[in-house]
Amino acid sequence: TPARIFVYRSLALGKIRCFGFDMDYTLAAYKSPAYEALAVQLLLELLVCIGYPHEILCYTYDPTFPTRGLVFNALCGNLLKVDAHGNVLLGAHGFTFLSEAEIWSFYPNKFIQRDDLQRFHILNTLFNLPETYLYTCLVDFFSGCSRYTNCDTSYQHGNLFMSFRSLFQDVTDTMNNVHHSGCLKEKTLEDLEKYVEKNPRLPILLGKMKEVGKVFLATNSSYNYTDAITTYLFSISEAEASVRPWRSYFDLIVVKMQKPCFFAEGVVLRQVNTDSGKLRVGTYTGSHQHCAVYSGGSSDMVCELLGVRGKDILYIGDHVFGDILKSKKRQGWRTCLVLPESWELDIWAREKERLEEPKRPDTHLADIYQHVDESSCELQAINFTKREIQMPHESVVEQEQASLDPASCLLSCSQRSLPVKSCLSSPI
Ligand SMILES: [Mg+2]
Repeated sequence: TPARIFVYRSLALGKIRCFGFDMDYTLAAYKSPAYEALAVQLLLELLVCIGYPHEILCYTYDPTFPTRGLVFNALCGNLLKVDAHGNVLLGAHGFTFLSEAEIWSFYPNKFIQRDDLQRFHILNTLFNLPETYLYTCLVDFFSGCSRYTNCDTSYQHGNLFMSFRSLFQDVTDTMNNVHHSGCLKEKTLEDLEKYVEKNPRLPILLGKMKEVGKVFLATNSSYNYTDAITTYLFSISEAEASVRPWRSYFDLIVVKMQKPCFFAEGVVLRQVNTDSGKLRVGTYTGSHQHCAVYSGGSSDMVCELLGVRGKDILYIGDHVFGDILKSKKRQGWRTCLVLPESWELDIWAREKERLEEPKRPDTHLADIYQHVDESSCELQAINFTKREIQMPHESVVEQEQASLDPASCLLSCSQRSLPVKSCLSSPI
């Protein structure tokens, strides 16, 4: 299937002088559900280490259950599917779906104040999918376990008291631990074929982009991890890898960039010693050295090193806030959001005839990705890494796609009598 690209604002690709890429879930797509299953397994093991019962190790990841964008209610342990306005469409307590009456009793007017961040946590990114599943598993386990008494906002066992909020905090802390300890990365690198998508067209695309402009890679990951992942992505064959190392596809490489702070004040810019992966002491103040690798810094420094302005850059990333909103709003970069959920479009294409009222094209994907300000993003590419990729000077922009409306999924989803499990994983 060809890549589907949606346009919020007209963008003259001929004026783009510089292409920037995020790495995780942009250049490097992690294979689903293998990657989430690995994360869930690591999370469960770590939760057992901090005292959770061994029985939770029986849970295995079910990719049909969670989807991005669900909301966890940390007060009463419900997982909610909410539309762009805060209306509750579906709710589940563990794997048990709430009845219509229960939803009304929990949420007057079937409505939530999404900005009540004490209660509601929006699970936005693909990295959040394992966590989303874990909340469900834990609520399912404790609700069904005879040793624990179910209370409104907690479980009790003898003199032990465990609120849904503390359960949420434990999972969040454990997930941070999984990322910071490097155990997920370590396991990923042990079996790259199992966990990372590889597209032979990627080096071709990047090579062509470099002919028409500058190309940079900017990632929050460390140099050693980035080196291992990109070596894998760019080595189509052993022979080819030795001809063209991955670093030669980029004019500039920035690791540990610390988004979103990178798009504001930033941090100290350091050079990375590519032989050892270690950082060099002190702020780098020299001119840009070709193929050099830097750590930290800020978006201003990237512009300075590359000799480009924010408006010259098209930055391609997968994170609604960290990649797209901040770079656009704070620095005026042009942006492209990559979404892997191509199945959403399949449902949408199937259901689009049911749509009665035509909608303005520029509100389409904003309905799905409710937190992206519609003016904050020029392009959204679906399944960028998996599909045929056209060159920027060719007709990347498929305007006719704009006549489709993904919002119809939401409508149809609430009208259809789908099995409840698949409802949560259908698009918002
Ligand atoms: Mg990313």
